[in-house]
Amino acid sequence: MSPTDQALNLSESEALFARAQKVLPGGVSSPVRAFGAVGGSPPVLVEACGAHTKDVDGNLYLDFVGSWGPLILGHSAAVVTDAVLAAVKQGTTFGAPTPNEIGLAERICGIYPGLERVRFTSSGTEAVMSAVRLARGATGRELILKFAGCYHGHADWGLVAAGSGLVTFGKPSSAGVPPSVADKTLVLDLDDEEAFDKLMDERGDEIAAVVVEPIPANNGLLVQREEFLHKLRLRTAACGALLIFDEVINGFRVARGGAAELFGITPDLATFGKVIGGGLPVGAFGGRRDLMEHLAPLGAVYQAGTLSGNPVAMAAGIAALDALDAQDAWSRLEELGAAFEARVAPVLANAPFPAKLVRVGSIFWMSLQDGEPPRRADRIDPAAAERYTGIFHGLLRRGISIAPSAYEVGFLSLAHTEEHFDEFATKLADTLAELG
Ligand code: PMP
Repeated sequence: MSPTDQALNLSESEALFARAQKVLPGGVSSPVRAFGAVGGSPPVLVEACGAHTKDVDGNLYLDFVGSWGPLILGHSAAVVTDAVLAAVKQGTTFGAPTPNEIGLAERICGIYPGLERVRFTSSGTEAVMSAVRLARGATGRELILKFAGCYHGHADWGLVAAGSGLVTFGKPSSAGVPPSVADKTLVLDLDDEEAFDKLMDERGDEIAAVVVEPIPANNGLLVQREEFLHKLRLRTAACGALLIFDEVINGFRVARGGAAELFGITPDLATFGKVIGGGLPVGAFGGRRDLMEHLAPLGAVYQAGTLSGNPVAMAAGIAALDALDAQDAWSRLEELGAAFEARVAPVLANAPFPAKLVRVGSIFWMSLQDGEPPRRADRIDPAAAERYTGIFHGLLRRGISIAPSAYEVGFLSLAHTEEHFDEFATKLADTLAELG
């Protein structure tokens, strides 16, 4: 498939989305897909291959959403679909131990720093929720510290955002989260070592775990100073709190061993999703053996799942990880990222408003505000969202899909080529000229 500069006809998509809204709240199974942040009706997708997606009206898009991160090999990678088809023929679920879950666990434990045991779940949310329970069970403490702007899935404990001020007891950021649950989550701003030190001095011995996305990628791409991450490791170790790296986006993407390898920091527990499922629903959490053995059936922390370790999903994950290893994917992804940046950064420098590319390997974001790209959520200028909306629709009309929200990142995959980046840069320049 290759996209053309089509004038978008979304009539079939619009009709389907109208139907969707009669049976699915907001027409979707996950909120951002509804285009609420950018307006308009989302293309309803029917097919995808390599770097392209196709909607029900036949429009083709050069895609930088990548299903929000899992598709590091690109859409419908043959190695993954072949593995899935073979696994499906042997049975879709057994509810019993399978060779595939053992194989994927061996790979993950063999790759990720310090990981001795891993437990599979069906989503990233479950993985982080379970890691948090495990941390509480293993330490006998209740408080969890998270950072504003980091997303850890939609379990109650993590749906808490910071108010202003140095440290707040969490206020739920969703209806339905009881304050008595949110109260157990402390929130700090990223990149604020002083506030972190103060909190650890005062309450470090009450904290079960500090949870962080080492490269926060759910509220823009808030690249952290390494000193900040090292500080988290040092101070948690000193007071007996666990450090949990939420690597659901970072893991197996920013480096073979995720952000832990990139920064040379071994967390106590880590959580995964996206890439390790090859595009099927998989999450996982893992860590040192002594900690993981607090889990049932060995220990007192309960955690389970009917479809956890699903053999088809495990086969997809194995195929994806093996394909990445076979082609030394991480250096290739860095090369692709650099090639993308070389084309896109100069275009953004000529935008009619301040605009900079932020990139870590194959993850990118556009910082649409003055000054250096922000390192914490409250430093994102709300005006950026309006600028992003213009870019988003200009690109979509030209057959390029980026995430339908200013706060979401973009993903490059091994299916992208330099020609795709030329196309992106040209169409971005055309869009920006139109907006100027
Ligand atoms: N943690 C992080 C860092 C994530 O980015 C996400 C999803 N974007 C989650 C957890 C939750 O994963 P899932 O959507 O699979 O539940």
